[in-house]
Amino acid sequence: MLCERPHGLPFLWTKGDTAMMKALALALWAMGTASAPPSVADDPLTRPMAVERAKQWLAPLPPEKLFGSTYLVGFGGLSVALIDTGEGLVLVDGALPQAAPMILANVRALGFDLKDIKFILSTEPHYDHAGGLAALARDTGATVVASARGADGLRAGAMAEDDPQLAYGGTWPAVARLRVIGDGEALTLGRVEITAHTTPGHTLGSMSWSWTACEGKACKQIVFASSLNPVSADGYRYTSAAGAPFVAAFEKSYRTMDALQCDMLISAHPDNAGEGRFNARPGACRAYAERSRGLLAKRLADEKAGTVK
Ligand SMILES: [Zn+2]
Repeated sequence: MLCERPHGLPFLWTKGDTAMMKALALALWAMGTASAPPSVADDPLTRPMAVERAKQWLAPLPPEKLFGSTYLVGFGGLSVALIDTGEGLVLVDGALPQAAPMILANVRALGFDLKDIKFILSTEPHYDHAGGLAALARDTGATVVASARGADGLRAGAMAEDDPQLAYGGTWPAVARLRVIGDGEALTLGRVEITAHTTPGHTLGSMSWSWTACEGKACKQIVFASSLNPVSADGYRYTSAAGAPFVAAFEKSYRTMDALQCDMLISAHPDNAGEGRFNARPGACRAYAERSRGLLAKRLADEKAGTVK
């Protein structure tokens, strides 16, 4: 996957070793378009996965403030959020293994200290959102937080036996230190209370997260939603007995998304929520659920029509 170091990058490095330049170099490496810095080239926890898809998933974006104490430190095709609680930092999701150094460079570029990252919240046990968790936890000392079913997958670094995408195979770096949280439970750090919402369907361990971010007296409800798309490996059938719990889980999750207070929606894959890195339109979470309802209805109809691989 490694190509020539792009012309101009060595020049950038000689201009000054700033956090932003590191982030750029790491971005190019994670996308597979530049040689890795020697210090991370042979790290088993950041070894590149899905190199072709990573070019879109890890398209670099500058870290930016979303609202109040909430920041976006992820990529064009995979969301990662950062919350400054006043008494420590919380990350949401870890993207791919090779993304971890770039996420940390983005956090540093915002002026934060990596040692202040206390928790990393997980939306689902799949490598594109959980692959970087092990490296992020190791490099910061943070504890990863997930649903019970999500934690099983993160501990194994593998998909659950009942995962509709199981036949795709593949593993990712396993997470050692986990805290399990239940539906509706809150994680409190500093002045921020983050509520866990189980949103199963895409996986049975999927979890969405919500919190309040304020600027002065203006406050907004932020939702970081897990993937809700009905995607499977070839041969899987949501209309089978094995698929029935997933269909029921999706329907429960739609009701959950419909009921959430949701001024700003960050979705695990940003393009599933509309254009850009987040969706601040009224009803963004309901629209997100509605999109999945449509996809699932079509998928079930296609299965019944025999037009699914
Ligand atoms: Zn997934």
